[in-house]
Parts: sequence; structure tokens; C-alpha cells
Amino acid sequence: MSKRILIVEDEPKIAALLEDYLRDIGGFATQTVDRGDRVLNQIRSHPPDLVLLDLMLPGLDGIEVCKQLRAESTVPIIMVTARVDEIDRLLGLELGADDYICKPFSPREVVARVKAVLRRSESSADSDESGGVEIDEEKFSARYGGNDLGLTPVEFALLKMLSANPGRVFSRDQLMNGMYPDYRVVSDRAVDTHVKNLRRKLQHAAGGKDIIRAVYGLGYRFEG
Ligand code: CA
Repeated sequence: MSKRILIVEDEPKIAALLEDYLRDIGGFATQTVDRGDRVLNQIRSHPPDLVLLDLMLPGLDGIEVCKQLRAESTVPIIMVTARVDEIDRLLGLELGADDYICKPFSPREVVARVKAVLRRSESSADSDESGGVEIDEEKFSARYGGNDLGLTPVEFALLKMLSANPGRVFSRDQLMNGMYPDYRVVSDRAVDTHVKNLRRKLQHAAGGKDIIRAVYGLGYRFEG
């Protein structure tokens, strides 16, 4: 049976475009709601497999809708925003969305992201969420597949944060605050360097598999 995607979008042209691509290219079944305050009822009566949620909506905005949904459901949510700089703010609110897409988007990209989020939510449902990573907080050591990773304290803090939330995107700011709890100011480049070193060590231990992925324009996520 086709997976059901709920499109929450008040612009009819965009909604129609998404419907076409998700059905024809993605092979999904779609439902569309054009107001934020109708989402919860729709989800209760016709539970979807994933929600594509626009941020600016009549009735109730996407942030509130996301909060309401998360209070009663673990359905995967992809938030759609019109501004790329809005995404950092959304990440900071920790709404629990699974991914973010910025308008204008390519409909093919949306289909690919929907498939990726569905794949992730299925695999995290039936496997050990942190994959092959084992963290020993007392010894400050981390292993992958039984091999010690030889992490620095900063890399250790990063891995702990990322692996506790598989699939979630962390912005550089969030990672920075986790790395340096005293809020020492460091540059984005310093964050990238630490993440790069951590990725390299993990990749080496995992036989070339990329465990931490860069998410363009946003930050990083742990894929386990
Ligand atoms: Ca809108």
C-alpha cells in the first residue's frame, strides 16, 4: 500500500505541484489541508505516514501545529519555510521536526527528502538507534564496532550529543553550545574542524561508512 503524505499548504499552486510530484514520481498517496487549525483533526481521522508542514499558514502557524502534533504523535514531519535564515530559529526551538526544506524548492528534491525521512524513521524503529556507537561517559571513551575511536574531549561531547538524537539536524550554534558549556565564543570554522575530525575517525572505524552527514546550509546529523 502506498505511504500517505499529508501536505499542509495554503498556496493552491504549490499544494498542487507537491501532490503531482509525490503521487507521480514518489508513488505516494496524498491528502492536503490548507489551514493550520485543521491539521490535528485530519491526522486523527486519517493518520498519515509523514507530514509536509508549511510554516506560514492561516488558522494556526506551522510552529504551533508542530508542537501540537508532537504532543500526541511521532509521525515524521518535514517543515517547509520561505526563508533559509528562519531554519536556524526553528532548529533552536527544538520542535522535533525531522527535516527542513526551504522555498523555492525543487519538487524532485522534496520527493527525495520525503523518501529519506521515511527510510530513516523505519530503520530507527527496528534497530538500535545509535548504531554501532558505544559511549562510556565515566571513562570519556567512545567505541565503534568495538574499536576505541580515540576522541578528544570536544569530539566526545559532539558525538554524545549527535548520537543521542539520530536523524536530528543540529545547527553549528547548537553543537557549539554542547561542545563548550561555558559558552566560549568559537567560530563556525572551529566547529566544522572538530566535526570533520570526528567524522573521519568514525568513518575509519566504520569501514568507510559516513555516520555523520553535513546537511547543506543547516549543520550536521548522526545517521548511525
Ligand atoms: Ca504558506
